[in-house]
Amino acid sequence: KVLIVTRTFGKYSQEPIDFLRKNGFETIRADTIDPDALKDADALIVGTHPVTAEMIENSNLKIIAKHGVGVDNIDLNAATKKGIPVTITAGANSLSVAELTIAFIFALSRGLVWAHNRLFQERKWEGIIGQEVSGKTLGVIGFGAIGREVVKKAVCLGMNVLVYDPYVSKDSVRLSEATPVDDLDHLLRESDFVSLHVPLNESTRNMIGEREISLMKKSAFLINTSRGGLVDEKALVKALKEGKIAGAALDVFSEEPPDPGSPLFECPNLITTAHIGAHTKEAIYRMNMMAAQAVVDFFSG
Ligand code: NAD
Repeated sequence: KVLIVTRTFGKYSQEPIDFLRKNGFETIRADTIDPDALKDADALIVGTHPVTAEMIENSNLKIIAKHGVGVDNIDLNAATKKGIPVTITAGANSLSVAELTIAFIFALSRGLVWAHNRLFQERKWEGIIGQEVSGKTLGVIGFGAIGREVVKKAVCLGMNVLVYDPYVSKDSVRLSEATPVDDLDHLLRESDFVSLHVPLNESTRNMIGEREISLMKKSAFLINTSRGGLVDEKALVKALKEGKIAGAALDVFSEEPPDPGSPLFECPNLITTAHIGAHTKEAIYRMNMMAAQAVVDFFSG
């Protein structure tokens, strides 16, 4: 029995469900994780819903297949203690998240959301002076599957790219025509756009706080398509309200969905999307099939 708790599994195509059924699995879909359902299931396919230690300890799960790559919602220690493997759909959504990141770069540099709202909602024929991205410096934090795709696209746009990732070789960064930096502060000081592509864990939580934002140029933009917990949102709100940076784009939030009364929604020059980085037909198809394949592979040894 496979319990499926993710918004997009099998939503646009029956193929992953048929694939599991053809391989002898019964599929059960749910909107939230019910601990009783976990006792009854052999496998869990999960998106961003929290999978706590208590849920894992009281379950009969043999495998947890993450529908995506960020495993910060799964208590890995509890899974390891119980000998439950956790798989990810590595690389399945990298292109889509990288494309959204580039879309944010253009939206911020040309004030696209502002311009759309002026004309479409207020019928005001007003111009906005933006800037070209070519020749600007992009600071990429995290040179993994998504970071690399962002770098590739930014280089094609004529941007100078700095990369901070202490866990990869500098040569691999140079091969992408980007410049590796040893010091995050240096990247923050030099960049016109700063984009986050690291996992959320105890060492990266709030890695962009008041001090880090204060190092950024007043004209710089911050983009987070990774995890909300990487950015101290209070510090970001303060910086945007006080004009310490020029703007920001967030696809992810420390609490999802964010409280409708969150001060984030009062910020000037903030554009937001509802964790849609991986929401393309192509990425969803790849994530669905890879997660289903992981379950089938595990039980076939
Ligand atoms: P990845 O594991 O391929 O790459 C992560 C990179 O971060 C690695 O190269 C690692 O060395 C680097 N890193 C780790 N800690 C670091 C630190 N302290 N400083 C600098 N670099 C550090 O992961 P990925 O596939 O590129 O995904 C990155 C993150 O994007 C995921 O963990 C997930 O949280 C997020 N994500 C968001 C969406 C979305 O819908 N918005 C979709 C997919 C992934």
